[in-house]
Amino acid sequence: MVLYGSMRVINKFLGRFKKDKSSLNGVGNSTVYQGEPLITPRSEHNISRSMINKSALQVLYGLKDAGFEAYLVGGCVRDLLLGYEPKDFDVATNASPEQVNTVFRRSRLIGRRFKLVHVRFGRDIIEVATFRAPPKKSDSHVDEQGRIVRDNVYGTLEQDAWRRDFTINALYYSISDFSIIDYTGGMDDLKAGQIRLIGNVETRYREDPVRILRAIRFVGKLGLKLDAETERLIPVLANLLTDIPAARLFDEILKLFLSGQGLTTYELLTHYDVFSALFPQTGELLHHEYNGFPRVLLANALANTDSRIAEGKPVTPAFLFAALLWEPVRQRWAYHQQKIPAIPALQKAAGEIIESQVERVAIPRRFTVVTKDIWVMQVRLGQRRGKRAFRVLSHPKFRAAYDFLLLRSESGEQELTELAAWWTRFQEETIEEQQNMVNSIAPAGNDKKRPRRRHRKKPEAKSE
Ligand code: ATP
Ligand code: MG
Repeated sequence: MVLYGSMRVINKFLGRFKKDKSSLNGVGNSTVYQGEPLITPRSEHNISRSMINKSALQVLYGLKDAGFEAYLVGGCVRDLLLGYEPKDFDVATNASPEQVNTVFRRSRLIGRRFKLVHVRFGRDIIEVATFRAPPKKSDSHVDEQGRIVRDNVYGTLEQDAWRRDFTINALYYSISDFSIIDYTGGMDDLKAGQIRLIGNVETRYREDPVRILRAIRFVGKLGLKLDAETERLIPVLANLLTDIPAARLFDEILKLFLSGQGLTTYELLTHYDVFSALFPQTGELLHHEYNGFPRVLLANALANTDSRIAEGKPVTPAFLFAALLWEPVRQRWAYHQQKIPAIPALQKAAGEIIESQVERVAIPRRFTVVTKDIWVMQVRLGQRRGKRAFRVLSHPKFRAAYDFLLLRSESGEQELTELAAWWTRFQEETIEEQQNMVNSIAPAGNDKKRPRRRHRKKPEAKSE
């Protein structure tokens, strides 16, 4: 960790940042206001301009030159202080979205819930947000559960800091003197390695329950610990997540599982009783696990995904959801197979489980179609006689389905070990050898040749 000592420096900023304290009463409890910010000058922190994305610097200077205040804020400041490479660079300013839009030619206004400006430089997009005031309970910005529904009231830098989620996400890097401005105690928390919600923890989780997922994601990603109250209320309030729109949860779930620390994040989600709020069908089965199933399959799938991400290989959400929902599908499939053949039984089970899951998490159809393919291919991989193995091999989803078969065989379904090894070899052999492999399969179970359907002869056309 590359954190340099900081101290309370009373400098020229102070006068400018002293603002009306009463305006902060909307944030959690009213005692959070501490007055003057902690200002860490350039000489006492490690962020240099060479670490900052060029486009972000251009935005900061563009705003400054146009007479506005401009700061880097959020994850990028936090990550730079911790010595990590930031994922993206966000800018906060006192310019209104419309003013930002006029400063930068290649910019556009976006967002419904939050109005933001995207400034484009080649392939980079820098998000610029105007300082926002915290929501107030007294007006219609908050619904009956305490959830924020609108948040477009512009405010001061100080107000903007207090309405953010965690103290370590509320640090501002100033482009005017390269200092870091901290109203909420984020610098001390970073040094102590702790993630703490700003203000009254229960109020802040209720305002936006996605903060529960964000807290867990940051533990996984940054390896920091949760402050006691921020931690204690997670299992207590996890159920609030069921009110979050399914489309937003889908985005959050991809961030949770496809950011490189999926396994740790999954363990934290189950540890804090949050997993079941996201995947109720799988969560239910985790309580009755049998031979470590489905925990082992999920853990193995996420460990594979993490190492693929570390190696820079692509990962698909379809495979992730295939693993996350496999156990409920497998059990439902067994149930349907009592009445109908394997493939239609699996298709039926897949349809039911996915239909129920998308009510909670809006997985787009382009992914669920592939997820179902991966599952149905599990039956086809067992049917190898005649031309079938060759047909399966040329299926566009063969690779994903084969990987899934390997995953199952390594995660408790030992009866699949031989089949998985057969497919591993089959892919490496010459055509002749592949044919020999197919010929030497004894007809059994699924592999039994289907009885040939007798084609009724068409009645011959009568000749005139
Ligand atoms: P990363 O980008 O590494 O995932 P981040 O903290 O930058 O982490 P973003 O989603 O990019 O996360 O959000 C940028 C900043 O916006 C956050 O650091 C935080 O200050 C603020 N923010 C994001 N989501 C919320 C929220 N739900 N409630 C309050 N503030 C939020
Ligand atoms: Mg970010």
